[in-house]
Amino acid sequence: MTRHSRQRNVAFLGAVVLAAAAIVGGLRHLYPYALVLGFGVLVLTEAALRADRAHRREVREHDWARRQAVGENPGPLWPCCLLAEASKGEAHSPRCTGDLTTQQFLAIVAHLDDH
Ligand SMILES: [Zn+2]
Repeated sequence: MTRHSRQRNVAFLGAVVLAAAAIVGGLRHLYPYALVLGFGVLVLTEAALRADRAHRREVREHDWARRQAVGENPGPLWPCCLLAEASKGEAHSPRCTGDLTTQQFLAIVAHLDDH
């Protein structure tokens, strides 16, 4: 169980509890409370989906690293790293599964300053 999977489970459980409370509020004609609780359901559902996505990425990265460690040559993941996704390919993290890591990128940039 990863940190992200725990966050996913907690957010999902919170969404279920809030949904139940919103339904009870709606049945008792407490519509403003039900509306606020419904908004909380949306927020927690979004958080659960993000945590699930991060968990799946972490599992894929671990599998990729394990395959590298046993001597296989797995292709890069897509995106190759989360920093590349956020920077639109301009930068890569040290855990990059592609060909260009941050250290390599910084070495290239440092070499450009020499000219
Ligand atoms: Zn990368």
